[in-house]
Formats: sequence, C-alpha cells, structure tokens
Amino acid sequence: MESKKFLLQEKDIPTAWYNVMAEMKNKPKPLLNPKTKEPMKSEDLYPLFSKAASHQELNATDAWIEIPEEVRDMYKIWRPTPLVRAYGLEKMLDTPAHIYFKNESVSPVGSHKLNSAIPQAYYCKQEGVTNITTETGAGQWGAALSMAAKHFGLELAVYMVKVSYHQKPYRRSIMQTYGAQVIASPSMSTKAGRKIITDTPNYQGSLGTAISEAVELAMSTPNCKYALGSVMNHVALHQTVIGLEAEKQMEMAGEYPDVVIGCFGGGSNFAGISFPFMRHNFTGERNTRFVAAEPASCPKLTRGVMQYDFGDEAGYTPMIPMYTLGHNFSPANIHAGGLRYHGAGSIVSQLKNDGYLEAVDIQQLETFKAATMFAQAEGLIPAPESSHAIAAAIREAEQAKLEGKSKVILFNLSGHGLIDMAAYDQYIMGDLANYDVPQSEIDKNISQLEKLL
Ligand SMILES: *Cc1c(COP(=O)(O)O)cnc(C)c1O
Repeated sequence: MESKKFLLQEKDIPTAWYNVMAEMKNKPKPLLNPKTKEPMKSEDLYPLFSKAASHQELNATDAWIEIPEEVRDMYKIWRPTPLVRAYGLEKMLDTPAHIYFKNESVSPVGSHKLNSAIPQAYYCKQEGVTNITTETGAGQWGAALSMAAKHFGLELAVYMVKVSYHQKPYRRSIMQTYGAQVIASPSMSTKAGRKIITDTPNYQGSLGTAISEAVELAMSTPNCKYALGSVMNHVALHQTVIGLEAEKQMEMAGEYPDVVIGCFGGGSNFAGISFPFMRHNFTGERNTRFVAAEPASCPKLTRGVMQYDFGDEAGYTPMIPMYTLGHNFSPANIHAGGLRYHGAGSIVSQLKNDGYLEAVDIQQLETFKAATMFAQAEGLIPAPESSHAIAAAIREAEQAKLEGKSKVILFNLSGHGLIDMAAYDQYIMGDLANYDVPQSEIDKNISQLEKLL
C-alpha cells in the first residue's frame, strides 16, 4: 500500500460554512406548511428546530456563515480530516486516472454526521433547550447526535428504525454509551407509532416513521427540539467543511478534480464534498462534473419526480420541494441503511433540475465488490453507504482506462464499515442480493402525491 496523505493543520479548519443558496441562480422553492400549504418563514420552523438552524434553513443571501468558536473547538477533535491519493486503488485498477478521497471516517463516531450534530446541539444549548429528539436508520446519525448532545448537556431521545435496532445492536450500544435513550420505532410512545403498530403489527419501521415519532415527541414536550441528520438545507451547510478542506488539499496535491463523487441518502455528505467546488462552476471558471451515487433500490434522483413531499410518513414535517419516490415508498432492506430515504434535499434537487449534477444508481453487489477492492487496496473498510461512492469512482476510473485518458477523481469516504461487518459476512457467504424496484411501485407512490409544483 502506497497511498499519499495531504494533511492540513488545526488553523486550516474553515472559519465559515459555505452557503450555496446565496449563489444559486434559481433558488429552491420554499418549504410549505403541511396544513395550510403556505410558504414557511424561519419563525414557522422555531417549534421544530433551533432558531439559528431555522434561519440557516432559509438563508439565501449570505454565502458565508461563521462557524461558532465552540463548534470549531469540537471539530478539532478529529478535523482537519486527511485527503488521500489512492495509489493502491489506481494500481489495482491499472487506470491512468488519479483517484483521491476525503476521509471522513476518522471522526470519533466513524462518519461525517458529526459535522452537523455538533452545531445543531450547540445552537439548542445556546437557546436554552434542554431536550432533543431525533431518528436514526443504521445508527450513524443517532451516534453522532448522542455524542454532541452529551457534550452540550442535552438529554437526547433517539427513535431507531426497528429492523436496525435488532440488526445493528452495536450502534444502539454506542448511543447508549454516550447516554442517549434509544427507542425502537415504530413504538407505542407516540400517536404516529401506535397507529402504525395497530394497522400493521409486524412493521419493521422506516426512516419516515421514525421521523414522525421524533417530531411528535418534540412538538409535545416543553423545551424540546428536533434535529435531523440529512435532507435539510442547514445540514448541507454544516457539511461544507468537507469540501472546503478538500479544496485546499487538492491545491497541495497540485491538481483539481474533473469529477467529484458522493454517495447519496438525503444529500448531506454529497453536498459537503460538492458545493465548495461547484461554486467555481457557477462563475464559469470550472466545468467540474458532480456525481451522486444512490442505491438502485432507492433511486430518488434517477427515477423519482421533482415534487412537493413530506419528509416523514405521517406528514408532520414541512413539505419540501424534492426529488422523491413518495413518502410512502418502502425501500428494500439493503445494508446501506443511511441511503434508504425516499427524498433528496431541496438544494440538491434544484441543482439537479438545473443540470449541475448527475446521478447514478448502483446495485448492492457492485457496492460490496467495490468495498472489498478498496479495503484490499487502501486498508480501510468502508461503510456500505460510502461504498456507493467508491463504486462510482471505480466506474469513472475504468472509463478513463478505456478512453486512455487521465482524469482526476475525488470522492468522499463518508464513513467506515467496522460496525457493519455482519453485512460483509453476508457478502462473503454469498447471501446478498440485488434489488430491482418495479416501475409500477414507484408510479403508485408518486401518483398519491398532491401536485403542488
Ligand atoms: C447517513 C450516511 C450517509 C447518507 O446520508 P447523506 O445525508 O446523504 O450524506 C452516507 N454515508 C454514511 C457513512 C452515513 O452515515
């Protein structure tokens, strides 16, 4: 293994996040109140999120938003993260392409999610909030928010999708170790949960249901807010530390990416690695390609529609203008739990509409093949989610080889897979399958959406 790292120092941690909305020609359409269908103002989001996050959510004027000192101090635990030239993978693929990855797996919880968990918990604390709620799928977001909540002295309740609660016991214990309460969703503790359990007693849960439960608890508990780990604009904003650091590191490497790749659940790590580079496309200085890699079993960007939809199952959240498969879409139980979400954030959705990014969908077996190659070439075991970005990067590198042209590829390694070894076990035993989504199922869910666009 002969990879090369590009390292920054503490002083190079960005002092401001990049707010892409300020520089977009076509801004995303507004969030709508789920009941009245009226555009929402920041104040309308206060019952749900901290005031600071509510303002960031709708801020379409300030391109740079200062990172509070307390947040930067906590970022110093693991940031700046390394940028790595993947010589080992290049050699294994025998490609003329130069492959770089930004390693977000070095955070204490093993993924990029902490970049947003810290500011969200910080703002709640600043505003006198005492309790927060959230949902988690595979447990990455829940683990990150548990750590951040404990640091700022907040009590956290996490609704964890039932199937993951049982399949990924170690992420549950991580959250509990940090002192969070973890509840398998659907649960009997909320109206939304009770309704689903009564209608479908064996339902194994989904992110949409868990969000409904967390939102309901936040709305009915004094001094309690809700925090979301993806999809929302303020989450994408916080993640831009990834791309801002990567930009400096690519400069150290003396190169600039021709293509930037991120795996795609709700869009936050993709936004984080992409937006700081995309701003040079807006001005015409650069013509970088941006590729979002999503699972074939949950293909919102490639096969969904741009429409207003709810972020959750019960319809409690604001309506978001998004590429969606419909909030009732129930994705197959693939191992990349963090990518099993029905919709894409509104900024990324608008940028896709405007032609600034491409999306590819990738089957589960291809992602595990890519993950295994990467582990053997670079020594790191990637999260099943991140393996979608690796598979897309390998496709780009193979294309470069076919064309006999060099190309600079940058992808985000959003997390490590050391707590996902059960999934690797199944792959090794030959027990994993691909999933095709029938068009009829997508059509059925989409046809139930109210046409507000
Ligand atoms: C949550 C998660 C994702 C997907 O979420 P995005 O908001 O799309 O980034 C990807 N990778 C890892 C490791 C995750 O934990």
